[in-house]
Amino acid sequence: LGTSLRSSLDTLQGKTRLDEDDVEEIVKEIQRSLLSADVDVSLVMELSDSIETRALEEEPPGGTTARDHVLKIVYEEMVALVGDSTALPLESQTILLAGLQGSGKTTSAAKMAWWFSTKGLRPAVIQTDTFRPGAYDQAKQMAERAEVDFYGDPDGDDPVEIAREGMEATADADVRIVDTAGRHALEDDLIAEIEEIEREVDPDRSLLVLDAAIGQGAKDQARQFEESIGIDGVVITKLDGTAKGGGALTAVNETGSSIAFLGSGETVQDIERFEPSGFISRLLGMGDLKQLSERVERAMQETQEEDDDWDPEDMLEGSFTLKDMKKQMDAMNRMGPLDQVMDMIPGMGGGMMDQLPDDAMDVTQDRMRKFERIMDSMTDEELENPRVVGQERTRRIARGSGTDEETVRQLLEQHSMMERTIEQFQGMGEGDMQRMMKK
Ligand code: GDP
Ligand code: MG
Repeated sequence: LGTSLRSSLDTLQGKTRLDEDDVEEIVKEIQRSLLSADVDVSLVMELSDSIETRALEEEPPGGTTARDHVLKIVYEEMVALVGDSTALPLESQTILLAGLQGSGKTTSAAKMAWWFSTKGLRPAVIQTDTFRPGAYDQAKQMAERAEVDFYGDPDGDDPVEIAREGMEATADADVRIVDTAGRHALEDDLIAEIEEIEREVDPDRSLLVLDAAIGQGAKDQARQFEESIGIDGVVITKLDGTAKGGGALTAVNETGSSIAFLGSGETVQDIERFEPSGFISRLLGMGDLKQLSERVERAMQETQEEDDDWDPEDMLEGSFTLKDMKKQMDAMNRMGPLDQVMDMIPGMGGGMMDQLPDDAMDVTQDRMRKFERIMDSMTDEELENPRVVGQERTRRIARGSGTDEETVRQLLEQHSMMERTIEQFQGMGEGDMQRMMKK
């Protein structure tokens, strides 16, 4: 998780209700992350207003902690902001690419062609750029790398003519991707040219290609291309760099469209379909927020069906009894490996896991089942306070559970090992924790 957003969320630990200060603090951190990811100020403000309103007005559902409640609201509002990915039916179609010079159109044309080819379609790239020297060679080479059909005219000087010829020459292809020229800035002749090409090829969708580093410039570009050819989707390129691509959201907003593809490198395979949750996590500088909130929610629901008042965070408060261990094992069965569960608890990163003795978490399915049977044979008193279990009781429990004394002792050892670890963490301040993790 992003450290500052994470620590704001940490302050909600143990709280079931949010006050205005809590919400303000979190909203401020989210604003900070989004602004530094180039998301437009007015979009950030709109988003934070709705998060703030919902967080304060909506009652957390029973058993949900304040922290999870906020995480869920943040996630939902972020999904509303970034939108779903542009629909791209896997069928015959013509796609027109628009954008300024250097935004990544030619590279994206080949990447998208490659992507369609992996879906069993036969794509072709049509190169109409007569403006940039070397455009033909570059496009041809990339199409070869993508192993897709290609049409261009190295000697042609009329892009509309090339587009017309290209549509005829690629009649065998299913998906035609029409690459166009760009300019350093928006100019009338660029707009006029792309309008003519658009009329000629009559695309099923036109995509605007934007460099992830685009900031405020996104607005004008998006508006111009929207007015001239109509934009159905956005391709964000160069996400392998430091830019997070938040500026592209301005274009999405301006054109009423959505994001289609993300480009993250210079080879033809460096492309993926846009998927909201990964992009959101990236914008916020957090781990996979969607997975996180879904898993916490699911695991808590299921655990609460059996026990109304257990929450993984309780492990960090009060004494760690065998009952806690049992619930934790149940939750682990549902949530996956314990290190990932730990990751969801504020203040505990993977770092804590490195501190645990290796066997502490080494509970195999088989051992877990035996442990469960053993615990079923124990009295409430024994579960609450395992120290009362001596020689005699060990024998009784082993017999009752159909296991052996050795396994009962292993369970007790495992419990005290976990208890010690947890106590150690309970007693620690932030600073201690950090020092320990650096070791
Ligand atoms: P065009 O002028 O819009 O056709 O842009 P190009 O496709 O020629 O790309 C401009 C430059 O950006 C080229 O050097 C590409 O290799 C590079 N480029 C394009 N997409 C990406 C990307 O996703 N990641 C990186 N690192 N470079 C990219
Ligand atoms: Mg180009």
